[in-house]
Amino acid sequence: MKSFEYVRASGIADAQDTAGRIIAGGTNLIDLMKHQIETPPRLVDVTRLDMTEIEQSAHSLRIGALVTNSDLAAHDTVRRDYPVLSRALLAGASGQLRNKATTGGNLLQRTRCPYFYDTTQPCNKRVPGSGCPAKEGINRILAVLGTSPHCIATHPSDMAVAMRALDARVEIESPNRGTEMLTLDEMYVLPGDDPSKETVLEAGDLITAVHLPQPPKGKQTYRKVRDRSSYAFALVSVAGIVDVEDGKITEAALAFGGLAPRPWRDGTVEDVLVGEAPSDALFDKAADVLLQDAQGFGENDFKIPLARRTLKAVLAELTGVTQ
Ligand SMILES: Cc1cc2nc3c(=O)[nH]c(=O)nc-3n(C[C@H](O)[C@H](O)[C@H](O)COP(=O)(O)OP(=O)(O)OC[C@H]3O[C@@H](n4cnc5c(N)ncnc54)[C@H](O)[C@@H]3O)c2cc1C
Repeated sequence: MKSFEYVRASGIADAQDTAGRIIAGGTNLIDLMKHQIETPPRLVDVTRLDMTEIEQSAHSLRIGALVTNSDLAAHDTVRRDYPVLSRALLAGASGQLRNKATTGGNLLQRTRCPYFYDTTQPCNKRVPGSGCPAKEGINRILAVLGTSPHCIATHPSDMAVAMRALDARVEIESPNRGTEMLTLDEMYVLPGDDPSKETVLEAGDLITAVHLPQPPKGKQTYRKVRDRSSYAFALVSVAGIVDVEDGKITEAALAFGGLAPRPWRDGTVEDVLVGEAPSDALFDKAADVLLQDAQGFGENDFKIPLARRTLKAVLAELTGVTQ
């Protein structure tokens, strides 16, 4: 590991250090530093800042950026009103990791692409312009939607997938832009020509909280398919929220993990469902729309039919249709 300076932020202004890197739980950043994938000259520890509360108001639930994944999953309001989030959190990592991992850090954790981690290999995300061997190489866990010729990495967070389905907004304190509230689609960028850039955040930007709007109507679930039943990242995951009234789907929110460089949500999939009576044929139509532009790279081709089956299973569970 390269040597670095360590400082403790005692206020937001200290944390907005454009030459330093924020450290919260450290469960991702420290690994990346040990592999010399990230070599920040200075770590700014934000864990003493006042960002540990979950506050409920008439319009939203405000989750402080330092709320741990364990505390968020176990929170009474989250379990009762946002069970998709609680389930997604509990499907991630392990108990020990969730006790350290924070809401802000979870959103900004980096990909698990094996080429990103292997510093003997080229990787456009780690060393821009060096190439992407993953497309013809080991790509079993990598993306089939939203990729670019320069990168096929997936975003690894389970929590962010549930937050995407819940229309969460991220509160950011920026030294240049002031306070901002961004949806996850606004915050995360697709790889395009520069996969090293994963969000619109700039140096010194601090995530202070995540806001969830009022609980959505309908049933919620999170289904994660992975190689082991715990302690493994998603091959495919679906966060689903569906309301059925008088035999018709009235509302649907669906977000997907393991498929794309950011938590994936496609409104046209939801449009197929809303206003229709739930049925196996309808669910197939929704999967057709979701996967119409999906592209496999060999080892990960299986994700395309797996995504179809997982989406259909989630829709069947949420609407009571027997498959
Ligand atoms: C073995 C293992 C298995 C795992 N399995 C899963 C899994 O199945 N599903 C899953 O979703 N995750 C999984 N994880 C990842 C884990 O959830 C993340 O490591 C964790 O959520 C990161 O949070 P942290 O607070 O430790 O972040 P840190 O490591 O402290 O930081 C991560 C990044 O976020 C930035 N950052 C942190 N806080 C802020 C803030 N407030 N404002 C701005 N920037 C900030 C840091 O600068 C850094 O770039 C796994 C991790 C490990 C090690």
